[in-house]
Amino acid sequence: MVIALTIFFGVVALADLNYGSVHLIMGNPSQATATSTNSSNYLMLKPEYALSYNRERNIPNWVSWQLNAAWLGDAPRQDNFRPDLTLPSGWYRVTPANYTNSGFDRGHLMSSEDRGVSVAANSATFLMTNIIPQAPDNNRGPWVQFETYCRELVKDGKELYIIAGGAGFGGTGEKGLLETLTNSKVTVPASTWKVVLVLDKPGLRLQGVTEKTRAIAVVIPNKQGIRHQEWRSFRASVDSVEALTGYDFFSNVPQPVQSVIEAGLDNL
Ligand code: MN
Ligand code: MN
Repeated sequence: MVIALTIFFGVVALADLNYGSVHLIMGNPSQATATSTNSSNYLMLKPEYALSYNRERNIPNWVSWQLNAAWLGDAPRQDNFRPDLTLPSGWYRVTPANYTNSGFDRGHLMSSEDRGVSVAANSATFLMTNIIPQAPDNNRGPWVQFETYCRELVKDGKELYIIAGGAGFGGTGEKGLLETLTNSKVTVPASTWKVVLVLDKPGLRLQGVTEKTRAIAVVIPNKQGIRHQEWRSFRASVDSVEALTGYDFFSNVPQPVQSVIEAGLDNL
């Protein structure tokens, strides 16, 4: 029995390509792999999140993380933006200084406040592999509103699976339109997107996903002038974010269920 179960779960783990990461239970959106020759889709696994890094863009393609009450806490914001030294040797390592005076925020894909459980976990959110150039009005407007809303769902007992990234080229910050940050090759995305699966309670994993599971997605232009717009006005279907990015979200969810929850437009 034990052997049979081990084999069963072993096969599932391989098929899922989740590498045993709790942050990839719902899938690996771009089939990223941890081989340094895969420079535009390089998988990095951390205890706090998983990500696909793009060496051509010098930003992550996506960051994926589980969020439930166990990840929240009172650890103070560390603010220790720093290069990620776990990138393959020889790869350019983006530094906080690349963003200085660019007119763009050092924007977290996974919110710092989503990792309040410990100083170490909060510190992990400040690695530059979790950061993209984000227009201040996006970051400090609808983007942060939606982050806060997600944590409210968690405080109500939900467990979330979240994937976020930046799509396209060129955003408008405080100093105007840039395709890459000045004096560096860090791509400025044209929009920021996020897809969220809302499970009723922690620990349900794939078995907790049904056709009735709530999925919320947003696509927010990476530009100024939107600070006071409601995050809800940027909602989109998961299908439309898949079309925008070319990724397959929640690919470990059975296809018939995926089809239903990805086509819907959240209206709560
Ligand atoms: Mn932010
Ligand atoms: Mn999908």
